[in-house]
Amino acid sequence: MNHEQSRALYDRALSVMPGGVNSSVRAVRPYPFFVQKGDGGHVVDADGNRYIDFVMGYGPLLLGHDMPEQVQSAVQRHAAEGPMYGAPTEVEVELAEFVTRHVPSVEMLRFVNSGTEATVSAVRLARGYTGRDKIVVMQSGYHGAQESTLVEGEGDHTHPSSPGIPESFAEHTLTVPFNDPEAARAVFDEHGDDIAAVLTEPILGNYGIVHPVDGYHETLRGLCNDHGSLLIFDEVITGFRVGGLQCAQGKFGVEPDVTTFGKIVGGGFPVGAIGGKSEIIEQFTPAGDVFQSGTFSGHPVTMAAGLETLRYAAEHDVYGHVNELGDRMRSGLQDILEDQAPEYTVVGTDSMFKVVFTRDGPDTFEGHCEGGCQQRPECPRYDYCPKDGSDVKQAETERWERLFWPAMKEQGVFLTANQFESQFICDAHTAEDVDDALEAYKEAI
Ligand SMILES: *Cc1c(COP(=O)(O)O)cnc(C)c1O
Repeated sequence: MNHEQSRALYDRALSVMPGGVNSSVRAVRPYPFFVQKGDGGHVVDADGNRYIDFVMGYGPLLLGHDMPEQVQSAVQRHAAEGPMYGAPTEVEVELAEFVTRHVPSVEMLRFVNSGTEATVSAVRLARGYTGRDKIVVMQSGYHGAQESTLVEGEGDHTHPSSPGIPESFAEHTLTVPFNDPEAARAVFDEHGDDIAAVLTEPILGNYGIVHPVDGYHETLRGLCNDHGSLLIFDEVITGFRVGGLQCAQGKFGVEPDVTTFGKIVGGGFPVGAIGGKSEIIEQFTPAGDVFQSGTFSGHPVTMAAGLETLRYAAEHDVYGHVNELGDRMRSGLQDILEDQAPEYTVVGTDSMFKVVFTRDGPDTFEGHCEGGCQQRPECPRYDYCPKDGSDVKQAETERWERLFWPAMKEQGVFLTANQFESQFICDAHTAEDVDDALEAYKEAI
């Protein structure tokens, strides 16, 4: 594969952008390929190389790179009529109505411009609503580039995980390992009256893909109820992907008080949203006192893209297609691992998938979770599969990144750049794409 153009572009980029990129995860070593264009479930780079794309913009592209007619014409019309106004438009109301109709816990929502902005606003809302300062997050959960959640450490011994964040910010953030109900109970025993909210992804999607163990979300729901704290589900990655239009909360049957959205809900354009019960969401200004505002919020082009994408998904059994291919991919990967690397774990659900290079596995594949790790206690892998982010971190991260990822890329398969980020099937992918990717896995693992 020739990468001359990409290398030259990266050379220029390094002079004018830190690390040559605008989001750190893109800075693949030794240099990333620059994308020239998308084509259905594929991307073509600046040197004309073609890849099956399972990155899908890191999650937003449910339909792939070609917008269906109805999405394209709505986007073009709204862009042509003047991209934005600083005054409300009908399309914001329509998208809000669509989301509230489909997501069980959401009666009302506020649109913003990124997932990060959504989680920042949700944390402020929870603190404003409860009059408390502390939030509980999962160790190695991801909620964007925001001050309150960029923390490391355990329980109430937390520190900022990045320079530039005052120590005093981390004092208000408590951490627990995902899937550990005892740790959650302990933190509530000690700090319950000061906890504004528990903020968690329903499935960890940015640190491996970690499925909840049975009853975990119910435990969090119960603890929040008992202590007057809010349960916030960060569905930026799972929203309109896991569980289809009802999102992961519908699939798991757990009702959070507040939900953050991003990615798919903007149909490939910058977006975020905070949704929940009216009584809570109405605390945002101007209805309430918790300040929230944004020049680009509810951007008509984004709203139109999101609305038509979701309408298209509702009308065309998109979820049936992507979830079926997800199963095909995950069970195909299981078969490959059984032969070649039985210690590795296939994770994911619906249209999300990943192979985590875990170091130990059971002696048998008899009766294990077929379509990716579901954290079933009866599965022979149960004691070996990753239960939280630190288990994923213990896996062969360097091998994944330095040997495996480049080997897949050389075979024309574009995966997310490290062991932690999820990969996605889109509506434009075909069974043949999945089978081609499986052949590449066979070579690369
Ligand atoms: C992507 C992501 C975010 C951050 O969203 P941005 O749009 O990148 O700011 C927050 N939370 C989760 C769960 C995500 O997957």
